[in-house]
Amino acid sequence: MKDLSLYIHIPFCSGHKCNYCSFVSFCNKTNDMETYVKALCEEIKIRSKELAGEYSLATIYFGGGTPSCIETGLIARIMLAIKANFSIARNAEITIECNPESLTREKLEEYKLVGINRLSIGVQSFNNNVLDFIGRSHNAKVAKNAIILAGQMGFDNISVDMMLGLPAQDTVDVEKMAKWLAKHNVKHISAYSLILEKGTPMKELVDEGRLSVPSDDETVDMYNSVFAVLKKYGYQRYEVSNFAQPDYECKHNIVYWTGKEYLGLGVSAHSFMGGKRFSNTEDFDKYISSLLEKNLAVENTEILSPSQRREEEIMLSLRTKFGLDTRRLDRLYGGNFLKDKEKEIDFLAKNGFIKIDDGKIYVCENAYYVLSAIISKLI
Ligand code: SF4
Repeated sequence: MKDLSLYIHIPFCSGHKCNYCSFVSFCNKTNDMETYVKALCEEIKIRSKELAGEYSLATIYFGGGTPSCIETGLIARIMLAIKANFSIARNAEITIECNPESLTREKLEEYKLVGINRLSIGVQSFNNNVLDFIGRSHNAKVAKNAIILAGQMGFDNISVDMMLGLPAQDTVDVEKMAKWLAKHNVKHISAYSLILEKGTPMKELVDEGRLSVPSDDETVDMYNSVFAVLKKYGYQRYEVSNFAQPDYECKHNIVYWTGKEYLGLGVSAHSFMGGKRFSNTEDFDKYISSLLEKNLAVENTEILSPSQRREEEIMLSLRTKFGLDTRRLDRLYGGNFLKDKEKEIDFLAKNGFIKIDDGKIYVCENAYYVLSAIISKLI
């Protein structure tokens, strides 16, 4: 059987939407959670009829939204449907995204019981002013307590998300947070820079001059400080924004970055299978009514051309520690990458931006701040 990664989208959040958020998530649909899960279980059944005999699930990832905010028992119901319809690899990585304020003892017990073995906790910052500015529902104390509780309940594989370049944030702040996480043995840390997405309250406030965010240079300084702290504590940067202790890289995300197949279920979920990219409708009601009538809710399908796939592989692989395997690229898409791009590669290598080893190209440790420029030279 072939490996497959499964993504499950839980589109609910508690309280109010964070000021920077552009994800498909709803804060006003508490009464629809159970119906949504019913629709999702239908989708699991329909998809498994097409695929279950061929594939075994190597990773499962509950993302959102905030999967931990749905009523106790519903994640277990989804897991039971997955187990009843798919075969799951013995050592499968099963992750759930959680927010600190919804991570109760009861929920953690439920996750353990159904085989979830990895938590990804969205903390973003330990500075309460910063958390207020971005509209998060927790404060630093709640976040720290949630991380400690999860550890006490036997979750060894914990990831924490932090954000960089937030209003009122500085380098001292992010350094302190990275140190606390490292000292508390959090195995995986994602550090993403703020992106001001169109249509979000934060973008509007910044555009109107009513809120200021750190400059790009200040954000790069924050990133470098976090990297320096985590490196000192034995973490490895295995993707530009992701740091892990040895053997704790996120297997599910590596699937995305290495062009492997994944199936996404739930409203707005994206999939990549058989060279095709497809996604479900973003319309919540439409998703539910289609599935309850036992029809899939796929709305967009795109077949990637070989040159698009090649470009994607160059782009994604250079972001990771695994590097760009030029021999694989030549084998899959033809050409001779090292020869075709000789001039650009020479320039980048001579200036210390990339290293080449055994047909693979790696971005140098201190060159990540110009990663986009390196990628565009090589595409
Ligand atoms: S918790 Fe996550 S998905 Fe929900 S509103 Fe905030 S950023 Fe968006």
